[in-house]
Amino acid sequence: MNKETYLGVDVTPLSYSEILSSLKERMDQQLKSTIIAVNPEKIIAANKDPQLMDLINSSTYQIPDGVGVLLASKMVKGKVQSRVTGVDMMDRLLEFAAQHGYRVFMYGAKEEVVSEAKRKIEEKYPAITIAGYENGYVKDHEALVKRINDVQADILFVAMGSPRQELWIREHMDKLNVRVYQGVGGSFDVFSG
Ligand code: UDP
Repeated sequence: MNKETYLGVDVTPLSYSEILSSLKERMDQQLKSTIIAVNPEKIIAANKDPQLMDLINSSTYQIPDGVGVLLASKMVKGKVQSRVTGVDMMDRLLEFAAQHGYRVFMYGAKEEVVSEAKRKIEEKYPAITIAGYENGYVKDHEALVKRINDVQADILFVAMGSPRQELWIREHMDKLNVRVYQGVGGSFDVFSG
């Protein structure tokens, strides 16, 4: 996949719809994909933390969440056309899930936040299947992995702040049958509000 690199950090210069069609192809091939949001703060942090740099660069899609990334791309006549924010990417993925019948699992945030976000999402996309959810404070991660697999989730959103959520995804994705993973920071708070 074509990437642009800013201070060592990869950025995927694709729009929302281009990411969705690329994801659909990868899902059809049973490939797992991870989506991580990139902004200037994360680029600076990655330059001080090799583990974070590796976590970002080993993701499938590094979406240009921050306006600073868009400006940097424009300055070097790169291909980033607009911001692709984590919360809007999640919203597009929810619509995509409802259209294609993909099953969604939501993990993270406080119980009342994630349950209310689920309710609001089901209201917005009546055709969607939220196959399950869990708050971000459970202790038994093995049981959670089993539950996500048991409900046959295709798309997993993890909302525990960055990089905690991406580290969780990396640690558990080998045992998960999920095909699309996105760390979404405080997005459940946005959907629940
Ligand atoms: N969170 C969680 N589990 C944790 C820590 C945080 O689910 O162990 C959730 C928290 O409830 C909030 C989201 O992660 O909804 C973002 O948390 P925080 O503000 O700490 O992260 P930041 O946005 O600073 O990266």
